[in-house]
Amino acid sequence: MKKLALHWQILLGMAAGVIFGMIAAQLGWTKFVVDWIKPFGTIFINSLKLIAIPLIVASLIKGVSDLKDISKLSQMGGRTIGIYVMTTVVAVTLGLLIVNITKPGKLIEEQTRIELMDNFSGDAQQRISQAEEQKEAGPLQALVDIVPDNIIGAATSNGNMLQVIFFVIFFGIGMILIPEEKARPVKAFFDGLNEVILKLIDLIMLSAPYGVFALLAALIVESPSADIFVALLGYAASVLIGLGLLIFGFYPLLVKLFTKKDYGFFLKGISPAQLLAFSTSSSAATLPVTMERVEEHLGVDREVTSFVLPIGATINMDGTSLYQAVAAVFIAQAFNIDLTIGAQLGIIVTATLASIGSAAVPGAGMVMLVIVLGQAGIPEAGLALIFAVDRPLDMCRTVANVTGDATVSMLVAKSVDKLGDPHVKNWDDNYPATT
Ligand code: ASP
Repeated sequence: MKKLALHWQILLGMAAGVIFGMIAAQLGWTKFVVDWIKPFGTIFINSLKLIAIPLIVASLIKGVSDLKDISKLSQMGGRTIGIYVMTTVVAVTLGLLIVNITKPGKLIEEQTRIELMDNFSGDAQQRISQAEEQKEAGPLQALVDIVPDNIIGAATSNGNMLQVIFFVIFFGIGMILIPEEKARPVKAFFDGLNEVILKLIDLIMLSAPYGVFALLAALIVESPSADIFVALLGYAASVLIGLGLLIFGFYPLLVKLFTKKDYGFFLKGISPAQLLAFSTSSSAATLPVTMERVEEHLGVDREVTSFVLPIGATINMDGTSLYQAVAAVFIAQAFNIDLTIGAQLGIIVTATLASIGSAAVPGAGMVMLVIVLGQAGIPEAGLALIFAVDRPLDMCRTVANVTGDATVSMLVAKSVDKLGDPHVKNWDDNYPATT
């Protein structure tokens, strides 16, 4: 029998998880699911996160040292950052346009607003105080934070990914500058390490259908009642329309225009990473799979993926920035605050920066939303209004974040002539090796 392609297996796992979660919720098996099913989801996410730092170290050192000269690195770095910022600005602007047309905040009844504020003000307060801590720092703190004072210390937390990236690029530059025969054994070591890690991703992905089953079943039994979702439908729909336009319109279009690769090729190649982003709500946890897919199924050279994707996972969050724009205006509308054009332009700037500053973990976009609200003069307590639907939206915005990273890596690869044919060597998922 022909084996089902990986993305179908993952989809089946997701669907089974949702159905099982709904049945379990009806039958009152919540405790059973939390005690006996959810841990397998947690183990799956942990095993992906486990290899994120070694993967970045091994592949980025190899990628940078392969570049052979520094000018290539700065050329690629400049393009990467430039395109990342551009796509983010497009995403925020799209979000603002949609929310100004649909005006979901105006649909919120006074009574619903009071109920939501009562129910979720505690949760909102927690996010606000997390954001306060980040806000207290000086203007250059973000820059200071990129340079670690101890690399072992930095590598102990996935939250310090940018610090690790900084060190590794620095290390790679050192390797370029020393005589080639001295650098060769170091490179061979990291090359081998990289292969081992890619194999580990293969092994972990064998359990992906079961992992996503557990994650989604647990999510369903733990989610709040459906009534609240209905009240927030207009808001959620506005975010989803925007994300849908990015994922199915903007990105494939960019890919088509700049690389001539067609729609199906792109979406099919990246889909397992998208499904995983949806199930885990974390670009960081999805990163190993994003890298493998982009390299082996979209034909981007490792020199480019190893540089563009880890940076993208941490700083390029188009889905998050779009969501922050929609959420900010929605809350303003619900509180009857009229935002001037100037205030909305301010949101473009702050949402772009806030999405860059958001960590690639579940719920991070909501913490940074506090900063966008503060800058625009919208009450931060309004976070309570959107709390109930944040998780499903987080899942979807993470898909956009990951798809955006993949898109930019294809554009950068094309611009430096490093986009070739796919060369699937792992996962037997029946994808044609050339198209
Ligand atoms: N969960 C998102 C990510 O990891 C960030 C966010 O918007 O909360 O990409």
